Amino acid sequence: MSDRADTVIVGGGVAGFQAAMTLRRLWPEKTVTLLDKEEETGYYRTLLPQFINGTLPENKLFFPPSADDRHLRILTAVRVESIDREKRTLRLSGRGDLHYQRLLIACGGRPLVPQPFVGADCAGIFPVRSLTAARMARQWLTSHPEVVVLGGGLVGVKTAAHLAGFGYTVTLIERDDTLLPLALSAAAAGLVADHLRQKKIRLLLGRTVDDLHSTAGAISAVQVGGDWLPCQTLMVATGSLPDLAWLHDSGLLSEGRLEVAPTLQTADPHIFAAGDAVTIVDSARYTPWTWPQAVVQGALAGENCHAAVPRSLRRYSRVNTMNLNGLSLAILGLPVPGAARAVYAPAGAGIYRELFHQDGTIVGGALVGDISLGGRFHQLMATGLAGERDLESLLVPRKGVWSPQAAVFVRNVRRARILPQGVER
Ligand SMILES: Cc1cc2nc3c(=O)[nH]c(=O)nc-3n(C[C@H](O)[C@H](O)[C@H](O)COP(=O)(O)OP(=O)(O)OC[C@H]3O[C@@H](n4cnc5c(N)ncnc54)[C@H](O)[C@@H]3O)c2cc1C
Repeated sequence: MSDRADTVIVGGGVAGFQAAMTLRRLWPEKTVTLLDKEEETGYYRTLLPQFINGTLPENKLFFPPSADDRHLRILTAVRVESIDREKRTLRLSGRGDLHYQRLLIACGGRPLVPQPFVGADCAGIFPVRSLTAARMARQWLTSHPEVVVLGGGLVGVKTAAHLAGFGYTVTLIERDDTLLPLALSAAAAGLVADHLRQKKIRLLLGRTVDDLHSTAGAISAVQVGGDWLPCQTLMVATGSLPDLAWLHDSGLLSEGRLEVAPTLQTADPHIFAAGDAVTIVDSARYTPWTWPQAVVQGALAGENCHAAVPRSLRRYSRVNTMNLNGLSLAILGLPVPGAARAVYAPAGAGIYRELFHQDGTIVGGALVGDISLGGRFHQLMATGLAGERDLESLLVPRKGVWSPQAAVFVRNVRRARILPQGVER
């Protein structure tokens, strides 16, 4: 293998792939090498719950294949171990050094595994993050149907929702008193909780796991409060942190964070970064670690890598839509202190739509059970043009009213826009 590339990308998640496709489109003469430590790369991480429950075949997990491209190399099962910024080289596991002209870091996050599970030497515990772990969980679940999902954030709620109804008993444990505490108001989260209970998921809110019990080398129970709960499969979804250990002596980290400017440039002008790995420093620090942000940032970082005048990221929002196995959900942002609230929540309809607004600007909200006009609200948030509009009546769902922005909004969260450029696997 050649030991140099014009641009090297660390991480073959959606940010890394978007960056690679953008680089190849904008600079067809420049070579790109994309590295990932996983065996496979380029898949929809957000669809892992549907893969784990067996409804999504493995081949549907991957980004659409594209034509051969001799200027793009994708190397899997290669871990980047360290960086030498002076020599502009990366040390790769078992493959020597690789020189870069520009480096793009898109190494994403690693799952947080809380005590008492750190180093627990027993089978049946699966962090929800990688395809490798998802494959093992999918197989294990067939004979271990008593499931506990730990963590009621986005990943835990999705995992629990998609495991319900397949013959498993599912318990979801969340330390906070409400689900999705970093994304939804208590009122909006209440509707999500109702939906999960209807799916026969047992919710233990305001609780956590204190201890575990194993039998014959496999998890058999977890302790919650003073009680022991049968548990043959534990899905750990207690959050993730940037996977930055390989950068520890690079001089690129600030108090452990990989900080970038709004142009996604790091402290080193030859190095850009995007996605779940980064903290963006502008008027404040932003960590919008979501799929739509990884898509947009990956493309922008790829574009800026060789641009004479790099462009800045325009939005740091965590706006996001998903389907929780029958309940549609659009997250626009948490309540902001001092903001007013407009609500549409007809009794018994299974719909809750709210917007938070301040000085004529929409600053957050959520659409639960009916996400129509989500793109319109996102657009009004981004442009700050809500003005004197009657938000209560704007919240009334109107099917079939779609702006071009709404179409983009939905398309972006369903599928990353992987451009049909050549990919060598
Ligand atoms: C089950 C699940 C469901 C989710 N659902 C949603 C959702 O509905 N909506 C939403 O907005 N977000 C969701 N997310 C979060 C979303 O998937 C992430 O925000 C997004 O994948 C981040 O993309 P990324 O490319 O920055 O990082 P990642 O997808 O984490 O990719 C980083 C890649 O870098 C590789 N890597 C790391 N370190 C090294 C190294 N040293 N050497 C080589 N390779 C390395 C990793 O193997 C990994 O493949 C979900 C996440 C999970 C796990």
